[in-house]
Formats: sequence, C-alpha cells, structure tokens
Amino acid sequence: MAGSTICNDNNHNNKLDGKVAIITGGASGIGEATVRLFADNGVRMIVIADIQDELGQQVANSIGLHRCNYIHCDVTDEDQVKALVESTVRDHGQLDIMFSNAGIVSSSGQTVLDLDLSAFDRLFAVNVRGMAACVKYAARAMVEGSVKGSIVCTGSVAASRGGKRRTDYHMSKHAVLGLVRSASVQLGSFGIRVNCVSPYGVATPATCKLYDMGMEDVEKLYEQHMRLKGDVLRARHVADAVLFLACSESELITGHDLVVDGGYLLNN
Ligand code: NAD
Repeated sequence: MAGSTICNDNNHNNKLDGKVAIITGGASGIGEATVRLFADNGVRMIVIADIQDELGQQVANSIGLHRCNYIHCDVTDEDQVKALVESTVRDHGQLDIMFSNAGIVSSSGQTVLDLDLSAFDRLFAVNVRGMAACVKYAARAMVEGSVKGSIVCTGSVAASRGGKRRTDYHMSKHAVLGLVRSASVQLGSFGIRVNCVSPYGVATPATCKLYDMGMEDVEKLYEQHMRLKGDVLRARHVADAVLFLACSESELITGHDLVVDGGYLLNN
C-alpha cells in the first residue's frame, strides 16, 4: 500500500471526486498527511478540525481555501462537534467522509497496580468521547442527507494487545474499536460504513513528544520494529489506508480494523 495510488484506476486521482470530508486532527501528523492525500484524489472540500489553529490554517492555505477550510473544533466539546458537522453540511451541501482521527497519546508509565485514575479524564475525553461525538454527528448528517458515507476512526495496534504500561491509552483505543464495531452494525442498513485504521510506529509530533526525541530519532527507533525492512512507516502510509477505507474500492468493507504497522503486531 505504498504511495498515493492504491485507489487510482488508470492513474486518475479521482476516487474522492465530488466528496466532502471532515478530518479531525488534520493540522498535524497522520491527519495532515490524509488531508494532502485526499486533496490529491479529487475531493471537493476538506474541512480540517483541530485545536492548533495556526497549523491547521497553514495546512488549509497550502491546499487552497476553495478546497480546504480550517475550523477550530475541540472534539471533547460535543457542541463544537455538532456545529462542525452542521456548518459543513450547510456550507458544502453534504458530508460524505468523516475521518475521526484527533487523539492524544498517553505517556503514562503506570501499570494497573498504581494507575492514576485522575489522569484518565483528559485522555478519555479526547480519544473516546471525542471520537464518539464525531461518529454520532457525522452519522446523523449522513442519515438525514441519505448519504451512503464512510466513517473512519483512528485506533491503534494498542487495541489488539495488552500493554506493559500506558494502560489508559490501551483502554481508550479498545473503546474506539468497540465504537467502530457497534456503529458499523447500527449504520449498515443506511449504507453507511464505519471502519478503523490502526497504526503503529509513525513518527509524528505526538510520538516525538512521547519519547522526547526528534523525528529522525523516532523513525530510527521504530525502524527496528518493522518486519518490512527498507522503509520506515510514515504518516502517508496510514493515509493510504484511510483513503482506501474512504473510497468506493472498499464499498463492502465495514466494521473492519485495518492495521498499518509494517508487520509489528504479529511479531511482538
Ligand atoms: P499528532 O499529534 O501529530 O496529531 C494529532 C492531532 O490531533 C493534532 O493536530 C492535535 O492538535 C489534534 N488534537 C488533539 N486533541 C484534540 C482535540 N481535543 N480536538 C481536536 N483536535 C485535537 O499525532 P498523530 O500521531 O498523527 O496521531 C493521530 C492519531 O493516530 C491519534 O488518534 C493517535 O492516537 C493515533 N495513533 C498514532 C500512532 C503513531 O505511531 N503516530 C500510533 C497509533 C495510533
């Protein structure tokens, strides 16, 4: 799944032609890479929703404001998520794709024996409640607009295994998978698909902060874990998977957890 050609028949980058997409956490990392890939694949309008206003606006400007808007939206605030979806439908006619990607990574080194339960609230507010709000309002807009849309949530390989530490993060990503599976069952009769993309080992501002390292050092760290040698996993590889789940190439795939980890999970 390399490069940006996975969904392109006859080299036409048009798999998202005419589509309107919201990408939360689109100011940085995996979200930003997905904004750029969607723009390369004919999307009509992308709405970036993030809390990093300057970065988000810069990304939108670089795509062109006729095809990309930035909106400040803290996904922990249900009213802001509702307003984000409503303004998207009002201004652009419909919502076809929700990439609910905004998330934070816990640096908690605790095991279950000494969990700091007070630290759960912020992590769960973003990774779980925020994700649920995005799915809820996107699904409502799609049902109301009779749009057979695609919702993709960012999970993690953390949802497929136990963690030696970062219990709170593992719990939050298991919850994302539960949300995706339940929503896919409930929304299938409307023709709405809900899937999960689960990365591991992508150097982004979040993982740099986690390890307190620069991008190159984080890439070197992760490279040791990749079974597919010769390249490091980058945000654009995850974006390729999101594009696949967003476009009609995956029209009968729903409730799926697409792991993008360079082979890490099965080997660890
Ligand atoms: P990142 O920090 O580069 O991007 C995350 C974006 O989410 C940022 O722009 C941030 O401002 C935004 N965000 C954070 N809280 C928000 C909020 N309350 N409301 C709106 N936006 C908010 O990190 P990333 O690595 O690209 O992470 C994206 C997603 O990928 C996250 O859900 C993360 O858990 C998941 N993930 C990443 C990796 C990896 O290796 N990088 C692995 C597994 C899962």
